[in-house]
Amino acid sequence: LNAKQTADPYLHFCTEMDDKVKKHNLLVEQLTQAVKNNEIEVYFQPIIDIENNTVAKFESLVRWQNQGQWVSPVEFIPLAEESRVIIPLGELVLIKTCQQIKALEAQGYDQLVFNVNRSLFEFAEYNPERNVWIDIIKSQGVKPSQISFELTESVLAPENTNHLDVLTQLKAAGCLISLDDFGTGYSSLSYLRRFPVDVLKLDKSFIDEIHVDLADEALVRSIIQMSRVLGIKVVAEGVEEYAQLEVLTDAGCDYIQGYYFSKPLPPSQILPFLEQFARDR
Ligand code: C2E
Ligand code: MG
Ligand code: MG
Ligand code: MG
Repeated sequence: LNAKQTADPYLHFCTEMDDKVKKHNLLVEQLTQAVKNNEIEVYFQPIIDIENNTVAKFESLVRWQNQGQWVSPVEFIPLAEESRVIIPLGELVLIKTCQQIKALEAQGYDQLVFNVNRSLFEFAEYNPERNVWIDIIKSQGVKPSQISFELTESVLAPENTNHLDVLTQLKAAGCLISLDDFGTGYSSLSYLRRFPVDVLKLDKSFIDEIHVDLADEALVRSIIQMSRVLGIKVVAEGVEEYAQLEVLTDAGCDYIQGYYFSKPLPPSQILPFLEQFARDR
């Protein structure tokens, strides 16, 4: 203990707070610069159609290396929201996704769907009249039907009825809508009736023990059956083991995403993955 601390513990507390605020502000500044300088990367995680045993989709996941250190999106997305950098960041992720789609199209892969994450904040800030995301997709020469926007249940909460306009515009342009992390929010079946959802993504927390926990298995089976009745496709997130894949296949799940098939890949590994998968199937 230094003398200052014993004399005035509050002063010590303030210094610590000050350090945290400084670190936080520095990180926000570094992130802002990274977006401006186009230093944000996007990795792509394959999503497998298990009925046809093909790669059907990819999820775009933002990546940021700050001074040689990877920072998790779980850490920097909240910072991006708070500083509004999430708006240009989200546009950049969409642009890079479109560029990836065009590159694959040139190789003969023109049916793949790319899922792009959008947070509640991005939805709240979106102007459906300007429809910037659709402008980006069209100006990049991409078919809107190759883009699916992933949003969480919070976007569909009753107090956010204005988001229906945004969803309606995106759907009208031909894009798909996926409901991410399904089951972690206030999941309500009525959301699925009121909103134009094409795909539901079962959260990893339901999948983790699906091969050992009968209650989890029963829950997942009934969600899949319900989705089928509503005409909604189901993706299982975070599948790591063969035993999980077996249960999900038997339950009639449509798509699988997870380390069992592949981690998120940098752009250079997409084509090799597609070619390898086609050889092995
Ligand atoms: P998410 O959309 O639910 O994405 C799935 C996360 O699970 C990704 O983490 C992915 O790398 C990870 N994952 C996939 N398969 C497995 C598996 O088998 N095991 C395990 N342990 N993890 C797996 P990541 O890339 O760290 O992203 C975290 C979250 O950050 C995303 O969760 C999403 O909510 C958000 N995020 C990522 N990119 C963007 C973006 O461009 N915009 C916005 N708004 N949010 C993003
Ligand atoms: Mg997602
Ligand atoms: Mg998810
Ligand atoms: Mg998740």
